[in-house]
Amino acid sequence: MFIGHYSAAFAAKRAAPSLPLPLLFVACQIIDIFWGSFVLLGIEKLRIVPGFNASNDLDLYYMPYTHSLSSALVWSFGAALLCWLATPGSTARLRTAIVIGVTVSSHWTLDLLVHVPDLPLWFDSMKVGLGWWNYRTFALLLELALLWLAIAFCLPAAGAARTKYLVFGAVMSGVQVFSLLHQPPEAASVAQQLLMTYFALSVAAWWIERKSRAVSA
Ligand SMILES: [Zn+2]
Repeated sequence: MFIGHYSAAFAAKRAAPSLPLPLLFVACQIIDIFWGSFVLLGIEKLRIVPGFNASNDLDLYYMPYTHSLSSALVWSFGAALLCWLATPGSTARLRTAIVIGVTVSSHWTLDLLVHVPDLPLWFDSMKVGLGWWNYRTFALLLELALLWLAIAFCLPAAGAARTKYLVFGAVMSGVQVFSLLHQPPEAASVAQQLLMTYFALSVAAWWIERKSRAVSA
């Protein structure tokens, strides 16, 4: 899954409005951010197999440290703990920590829907995945539906930034369609392109919040 992961960030923003949107953008993709970095470092592996599934050419055959259920639970608990440690004295300390943990864990759950069985339950064994990537149009509509449902759910928490959220949603939808039509030919460029997109979207989320705070101040 790609853009659909950001549905968790928007839903989390409604659940804990004090959390910065860019932080939530990083949280929902932190598993992929480490995955992309580990691929570039040769720690986790993928290969390009044309037509591997109906949506992309990615044979994600080795990713035990980021995309196994066991590691996803560790990432989620670790992120929640970090958030809790970083917010001493905050009245919503436990709530924000739980929201961060759930946002990180949503990544594995949403990946489970679309991945073919390449998500290990434990380290590199017992691989699962419902394989909805094999239904190209359905998988695309699922990503867009998740994104827009979450943006609609989040709008009451968006304040002065409502219009910006809607424009952002349209841009993100375009990014999703573009990624479906233009896939890099090499494993390293897949990781690089995704990492750059995650970074750009998080910066855009920061810019939107900064601008709207300046407007409402
Ligand atoms: Zn992933």
